[in-house]
Amino acid sequence: MHQKIWDNCLRIIKDNLSNETYKAFFEPIKAVSVKQNILTLEVPTMYFYEYIEEHFVELLKKVIRRELGADAKLEYSVPTGKSGIGTRLSGESRVRVPDNQFVKPPLEPIRDPFILPGLKPLNISPQLKAEYSFNNFIEGECNRLARSAGMAVAEKPGKTPYNPLFIYGNSGLGKTHLAQAIGIRVKEQYPHLVVLYVNATKFTTQYMEATASSKKNKTNDINNFLHFYQCIDLLILDDVQEFVSRPGTQDIFFEIFNHLHQRGKQLILTSDKPPAELHEIIKDRLLSRFKWGLSTELERPGYQTRLEILKNRAYGNGVELPENVFDFLAKNIVNNVRELEGALASLLAQATLNKKAITLDLARDTIAKLVKYNRREVSVDQIIKTVSGYFHVDENCIRSKSRKREIVQARQVAMYFAKQLTKISLKGIGAQLGSKDHATVLHSCRTVSNLLETDRRFKMQVDELESKLIS
Ligand code: ADP
Ligand code: MG
Repeated sequence: MHQKIWDNCLRIIKDNLSNETYKAFFEPIKAVSVKQNILTLEVPTMYFYEYIEEHFVELLKKVIRRELGADAKLEYSVPTGKSGIGTRLSGESRVRVPDNQFVKPPLEPIRDPFILPGLKPLNISPQLKAEYSFNNFIEGECNRLARSAGMAVAEKPGKTPYNPLFIYGNSGLGKTHLAQAIGIRVKEQYPHLVVLYVNATKFTTQYMEATASSKKNKTNDINNFLHFYQCIDLLILDDVQEFVSRPGTQDIFFEIFNHLHQRGKQLILTSDKPPAELHEIIKDRLLSRFKWGLSTELERPGYQTRLEILKNRAYGNGVELPENVFDFLAKNIVNNVRELEGALASLLAQATLNKKAITLDLARDTIAKLVKYNRREVSVDQIIKTVSGYFHVDENCIRSKSRKREIVQARQVAMYFAKQLTKISLKGIGAQLGSKDHATVLHSCRTVSNLLETDRRFKMQVDELESKLIS
């Protein structure tokens, strides 16, 4: 009931907002209940709520009254443990500093950095690489949320609840690319804003040098360092996990973070671990701030996304490859976009050097040198065996016609992999799996694909199975 009402509301809201805004602010909301005329919505964090109240309350009022009548009321709920504590919400004027939250002012009173001789913050080179644009960042299930949050941030840096935006994920999955894309977009739209990309290692080195030189030559380098960072509008700090055991650096970054955040400047952080796993590396008070905004994960891309990334990269280089070569690469290199691109680059180099056409055989040879992959095709038997072991379902049951729920699901997954990883026809696959016809196999594959889109746990299982099968 509440879902239906909320869906009706959403339909109208969607018509009234840009797609990005809608995705960023309304997709994360869950309708919880309707009691009499009170609609309760769950929002991810406290300042999400405040932001929505501030920006969309009129629209919300209208649509909810339309659904529930003139005396309709709206209540929000925030999952416990997530309430955002005092932070800037929008506009320069709404800085709210909670009593015990903010730290002492930066080390020494700061003079206006803009009049410091030799410091010309507006000339800071943002350290962005043009190829890391949104245009080159292929969208897929694996990065949808992170990408749309990134775009929302790029539209209104510092003015969304996603501050900081914390992007995490394994190496080679596009953290640097996405973070840079945001910087590029901000620079395009707001050329006057000061944007800086820096990785944690470089930040650390800069700080160590400034400290050393301040001590040795009695210079003001530490202050200059601080001023430099404090006049940035969008600061991208890449690979924060590299702050390992550098408390001094973390303290200075803490000052910078607070200074920028209080003034409504945007921060973007990336890490190869989620915030929860950084507690051994990052001091608590800094880590707690990392959780203020939105943490979003980049996952391993699925087959379709891998294929698209490859094609995009190849066309970008002005080369065309046979479809089966794309398919081969996308099927065999599954863990990491960097490896995928490496394989393509190496294949192109091979082809140019040896003046050979790019064929499937050449691709096999090249890839064999780069990554482990199964030279032989996976067989249906192997698939059945692996799936059966994984789901603890008897192999013979998977081959049988049994209609028990867990067996049906295991069989469907086996069919899905048989279609993905072998060249056997649908009919052939059906024959080995419960004497099903080709339509049933196709239907099973679709069911699995659909579930992959909606069920995270299932997706993790299938991904895990996939790596077992092709490693
Ligand atoms: P990370 O910082 O997570 O280790 P990178 O951002 O350096 O990963 O990405 C590795 C390579 O993969 C880069 O060349 C990047 O352009 C590419 N890449 C990653 N994700 C995508 C994507 N979704 N679309 C296109 N290229 C991508
Ligand atoms: Mg990186």
